[in-house]
Amino acid sequence: MYPGVVTDPILDDLLLFLEHAPTPFHAVAQAAEALDNAGFRALAEADPWSDLAPGRYHATVGGSSLVAFVVPKGPHAAFRLVGAHTDSPNLRLKPRPEYAKEGYLQLGVEVYGGALLNSWLDRDLSLAGRVFVESGGRTSPVLVKIDRPLCRVAQLAIHLDRDQNEKLALNRQEHLAPLLGLAGPSAPSLTALLARELEADASAIRAMELMLYDVAGPAVSGIDGEFIHSGRLDNLAMCHAATTALTLAAGAAEAGGVVPMIALFDHEEVGSESATGAHSAFLPRALERISAGRGLSRDQHFQALARSFCVSADMAHAVHPNFADRHEARHKPVLGGGPVIKTNAQQRYATSAATALLFERICARADVPFQHYAHRTDLPCGTTIGPITSTLLGIPTVDVGNPMLSMHSARELAGTRDPALMTRALACFLEGAD
Ligand SMILES: [Zn+2]
Repeated sequence: MYPGVVTDPILDDLLLFLEHAPTPFHAVAQAAEALDNAGFRALAEADPWSDLAPGRYHATVGGSSLVAFVVPKGPHAAFRLVGAHTDSPNLRLKPRPEYAKEGYLQLGVEVYGGALLNSWLDRDLSLAGRVFVESGGRTSPVLVKIDRPLCRVAQLAIHLDRDQNEKLALNRQEHLAPLLGLAGPSAPSLTALLARELEADASAIRAMELMLYDVAGPAVSGIDGEFIHSGRLDNLAMCHAATTALTLAAGAAEAGGVVPMIALFDHEEVGSESATGAHSAFLPRALERISAGRGLSRDQHFQALARSFCVSADMAHAVHPNFADRHEARHKPVLGGGPVIKTNAQQRYATSAATALLFERICARADVPFQHYAHRTDLPCGTTIGPITSTLLGIPTVDVGNPMLSMHSARELAGTRDPALMTRALACFLEGAD
């Protein structure tokens, strides 16, 4: 049970998921563990999928993207897909990060994605990611999460720049390097720190892929426990909803005629173009291999795709009372109001009237309220994985997400009622309801 006043088991589980997943690598490990506990078996991309028995499977690529699916007992006529992304904007260590300056030990960082840079200032930060450790002539990745305050991106005192409250200007190269300690001959190296953490020999550490995270774990707040405060709600909240929904739907799906599937992709925040992103061949390849593994011809596979449907789940902008004019007047989602259906005529979201209607029907079946969102016409609209996967696969798609504030902050805000609502709607969808 997560510390605090939490009585909803889905919310409770989400808070633990957020706490234990400071990086996309950890998010995939968390999702895989939840799936293992629900009877899913790990498949490797390099294994044969040519004779897939009915059952529950998951497969990962690059350690930071995952697909999971249920193969029903009979032949499948369609797929039901839920997509989400495992990455969040943050600060990531460069390959040779350590340097000394003005008596301090510092880390060189790169900004990943569209981070709200000011949200990283004056927080208790630590490091997480993966480290490649050599053992017996083989090098393998090991997850690492240092569970204590370790470094800080310190703000400049107000006395040294009186204009900061009006115009804070942060140079990405100069102003974001965290302080790791005081420099000096006796200061330990980052490799020594990691070796101690992993109980490994420093000489066995061959490479590292590390990022900063806020050590303050998720918290429930608000006068009546309405709010979740946490890093990475965008989009681990949807990764969690998709994974939980698939475990809930698996039993019914085994007896049905559709393959329910979730796809959790890395690299959405930097455009999805990578071997593990939504733009990669990973998902089309997995879909084709499932059909081939069940004896469908290529034409039957395309028939199944033609009957398929995709829900792209990524967090949505709730109306902010202090900046209400930033919202389109008639499309102002509220926290606790349930899933938000996102539409954009420029196709920054993949939703059409037909796909919105299908999702509304699913919500009605699951007894879940829903809301609509459209961006202000005079502001550039963000995008998500929905338009990418729908372009790649030609599958009708709806873009949805739970409402939140402070998107892309190191510590975001969402509602405590919405996770269970979205999970219920996605479970109903994955069961094959229409
Ligand atoms: Zn997102």
